[in-house]
Amino acid sequence: MDTKPRPLFIVISAPSGCGKSTLIDMLLQEYPDIVYSISCTTRKPRGEEEDGLDYHFMTVERFRELIAEDAFLEYAEVHGNYYGTLRAPIVEILAEGHSAILDIDVAGAAKVRHHVVHHLPPEDPLRLGFMDIFINPPSLEALRERLEKRGTDSPEVIERRLANAEGEMSRAAEYMFQVTNDDLGIAYRRLCDLIDVRSGRM
Ligand code: ADP
Ligand code: 5GP
Repeated sequence: MDTKPRPLFIVISAPSGCGKSTLIDMLLQEYPDIVYSISCTTRKPRGEEEDGLDYHFMTVERFRELIAEDAFLEYAEVHGNYYGTLRAPIVEILAEGHSAILDIDVAGAAKVRHHVVHHLPPEDPLRLGFMDIFINPPSLEALRERLEKRGTDSPEVIERRLANAEGEMSRAAEYMFQVTNDDLGIAYRRLCDLIDVRSGRM
């Protein structure tokens, strides 16, 4: 019997500050076959972020060139900046038998879902391995506390992120799965269970 896990194409969305990066970092430590998809963005690096590791940071001009070249699987404008996922690296990750994990906003996730379901043939690896997960905060108040505690955003940016959060949460039902990040350990185990079942590890 072939026991190799199925390569997954995992899309995760959550309002900013929900703990999505924390959860994804935990997954990447435990699952060496899951590769983080590095997005392109026109926003400035924050804190310790590094170019080519957290994001490919670039100018609006360069981003628009890549749009014109049809290099993006999806892209969206979030909080006043462009963010996008390059197609080629994802195809390559799955072709190598690894899984790809994307951290993208609800608009980007909707585009990916539409593309996968309506434009890819049933045997395409991106379609075979597709799963999307929405991470909910325990409450908007808890989300505010986390953003303030993280200390990386100005009060105006925090307000903008909170205003967006409600709209994003109203689209949670579009996802195959939802996880609430109240207790970090419990949320993490639920994520692992979803991934293990989908990849055929259990
Ligand atoms: P995101 O990537 O969704 O923007 P982060 O992973 O940066 O969010 O988390 C935001 C803040 O909340 C961080 O300071 C993180 O340590 C904290 N955090 C994450 N998960 C939890 C949790 N379950 N309970 C309390 N704090 C959390
Ligand atoms: P942040 O600025 O906090 O890193 O990210 C802000 C938002 O942009 C988050 O909701 C994140 O999921 C989203 N995002 C990051 N990369 C991409 C991407 O490649 N495409 C899309 N559509 N959204 C992204």
